[in-house]
Amino acid sequence: MKHSDKKINILELSKERFASWLEGRQIESYRAAQVFKWIYLRQADRFDLMTDIAKDIRPLLEDHFTIDRLETENVETSIDGSRKYLFKLEDGERIESVLIPERDHYTLCISSQVGCAQDCRFCLTASGGFQRNLSKAEIVSQVRDIKNELQDSMPLSNLVFMGMGEPLTNYKNLVAAIQVITDSSFGLGFASRRVTVSTAGIVSRLADLGRDTRVNLAISLNATDNQTRNRIMPINRKFPIEKLLKACQQFPLLGGRRITFEYVLLKDVNDSVEDAYRLAELLRPIKSKINLIPFNSHEGCQYQRPNEDTILRFQKILIDKNYTVMIRQSKGQDISAACGQLAVKTADSKQKTDDRG
Ligand code: SAH
Repeated sequence: MKHSDKKINILELSKERFASWLEGRQIESYRAAQVFKWIYLRQADRFDLMTDIAKDIRPLLEDHFTIDRLETENVETSIDGSRKYLFKLEDGERIESVLIPERDHYTLCISSQVGCAQDCRFCLTASGGFQRNLSKAEIVSQVRDIKNELQDSMPLSNLVFMGMGEPLTNYKNLVAAIQVITDSSFGLGFASRRVTVSTAGIVSRLADLGRDTRVNLAISLNATDNQTRNRIMPINRKFPIEKLLKACQQFPLLGGRRITFEYVLLKDVNDSVEDAYRLAELLRPIKSKINLIPFNSHEGCQYQRPNEDTILRFQKILIDKNYTVMIRQSKGQDISAACGQLAVKTADSKQKTDDRG
């Protein structure tokens, strides 16, 4: 097949672009809405299943488009019930998504990039470097495919961009994916208030995110002074704490919402009483809640998790200052699915291993 004849994965297209493709072939544009309902609401994988689309149109669509799913290479289930999916992408790269059962719903943690360029010192994803952005379809498909596979009556209703990668440095694809994910008529129908984008603090994109979407914002703060934050999160040299928090103050919050501040607790690095008081001070002007994440260790990492007393002391100081503070005991530690533990061999590193072998 000539390259120009290659079929397009329809999940890459917006409904509007697909409608204009149809119009170019004298087909009514409302067919686009019908096709999208089949793909996202009914999870159809083939055009010939789309019984309300005229019989002569279906083969034309089949000739030009595919409705792709990701290739699932492995699924691991933790003793706590969370499941880690390893997907192999078309170019051989791999990503992970984690499905987490909560009391009455599932939360899905998805990836936005292969690897990550932020180089946070405590995160395993960072150690493999950055490979590439995920396409819109690769982001959406993590959700569509896993939702399709769930046999359970418990709904998958919550989504967090807390997997591999920095979502705000893949901005265009992120926003296009969120649009489909939150479209209740022709998309996956997630409520915006149940979707959270977590960022290491790409300040230059926060206003855009507030304008272009209605999702929740989470900030990985992780330190209370610039010296410490520079050391553990290099992005802080570009966007220091004052700038980050000022942008948070300006972030539009819909009715009653708050910004989540994530704080990875690292023994003797950011877990002191002074840190807790400083954190309370820093967040005072912002409608916020705090997630404390005791460090999850991984091979070759110099950091340690503080002991239980230190964690509880840190939490108590913040609670006494009237903050809502959750301690996030990350699920899936036995299968390396917890925060900061996602890392897969990339096509590159595998190649190198193969070469050596
Ligand atoms: N790049 C985005 C999305 C990743 S979210 C961001 O930084 O927000 C991953 C979350 O897990 C972040 O809050 C990060 O600070 C946290 N994290 C990373 N490594 C961790 C580890 N080893 N233990 C606990 N939390 C970790």
